[in-house]
Amino acid sequence: MYDVIIIGSGVMGMSIARELSKSDIKIAVIDRDIPGKHASFKAGGMLGAQNEFTEDSDLFHIARQAQEMFEPLRDSLLDEVGLDIEYLDSGLIKLASSIDDNASVEKQYKFLQQYNRAVELLPAKSLKERTNGNVISDNLSAMYIPNDNQINANKYTKALLKSLEQRGIHRIYNTEVSDITPLNPGYRVVTDTDVLTAEKVVVAGGAWSGKLLSHHMPNSSVTGVKGEVLLVEHPNLSLETTLFTTNGCYVVPKMKNRYLIGATSYFDDYSVGVSQLGKKWLLQQATMHIPNLRDGKLINQWSGIRPYTSGEKPIMDEVAKHLFIISGHYRNGILLSPYVGKWMGDWIQYDRKPEQFADFIIERGKTNEVHYKR
Ligand SMILES: Cc1cc2nc3c(=O)[nH]c(=O)nc-3n(C[C@H](O)[C@H](O)[C@H](O)COP(=O)(O)OP(=O)(O)OC[C@H]3O[C@@H](n4cnc5c(N)ncnc54)[C@H](O)[C@@H]3O)c2cc1C
Repeated sequence: MYDVIIIGSGVMGMSIARELSKSDIKIAVIDRDIPGKHASFKAGGMLGAQNEFTEDSDLFHIARQAQEMFEPLRDSLLDEVGLDIEYLDSGLIKLASSIDDNASVEKQYKFLQQYNRAVELLPAKSLKERTNGNVISDNLSAMYIPNDNQINANKYTKALLKSLEQRGIHRIYNTEVSDITPLNPGYRVVTDTDVLTAEKVVVAGGAWSGKLLSHHMPNSSVTGVKGEVLLVEHPNLSLETTLFTTNGCYVVPKMKNRYLIGATSYFDDYSVGVSQLGKKWLLQQATMHIPNLRDGKLINQWSGIRPYTSGEKPIMDEVAKHLFIISGHYRNGILLSPYVGKWMGDWIQYDRKPEQFADFIIERGKTNEVHYKR
């Protein structure tokens, strides 16, 4: 019998497993796929703790604390597994995607200023200077958000995976969990090849978490929102700061002169691959504000499914005694993962629910985050 079985080997499941492995706990992480296929490997890597919020909420404060964990995490993963997660501290510019959105940028600026005086509105001249003349703004409001830095999400997820390997955590891939039934004590975890048992079970199955727990929480509000991404290489575009427009399109400058352009949002779409329509929209939006990107070369494209909940708040709850669900981190799962790993690890190990998670129950509440839909 395992002490803890974690279902899902994305950033959430792996961060929790890594935290638990600090104690002498027998852990298995099960995933129905091989690593590399899902949201955690596909993300933009923005640590947008400010960009993503327009009003005060518990999640906003958690996101800000999570953001601060990344520099030390970069160092600890580099030490432990020798992989660099490419933390870049060049901040983010939020730009209105049309004149109609100017007021929303200015309102968000006022909100963020209360917590971070370094957030600044960027008049056209300053925007030009900060982006080396690359961003065209045409009467659009913009603000610079320092601290909303970024990492390479693919490398981060690979580093977590390697850390789990090195820590001797039992990892079981290509194995789908079809059911979780109660034992006394603990649970039976039924897979397509085996039946495993554990005292405690964590479902961190991303957008599929609700489906797996449908017997336990019939009114699950977890669903998937597909996002498409392009990667463009441009040897002489000198742009370091992420550009995020209010319609949800963003350009994240990566290492080796690469620019990640994201992302579309298709609700309840679980398909794989980039559509012609999505590609067209991304290229059109990105080059409208950064015309020089037109000379870049498209070198890769991919898609992933974000775990979404109806209230746009994650679910971090105990479905039944010692059966946990961790899902719905939507556009911010990379950012939130080290914080969730730390505090869920604590909860699972010591049966102590973190009080800051009080709001993230299965029953949905009001919306706190900015919701982009095109
Ligand atoms: C295009 C895109 C851009 C993004 N950009 C950002 C960003 O810039 N910043 C940010 O913070 N976040 C971003 N995100 C969001 C972030 O990627 C997700 O919130 C996060 O990766 C979710 O992690 P997870 O571990 O919950 O889910 P996942 O990474 O989806 O992992 C869930 C795992 O569970 C497994 N699984 C599911 N059901 C079962 C089952 N029955 N049996 C066994 N295994 C199962 C799946 O195979 C999968 O590997 C982005 C997402 C996308 C798609």
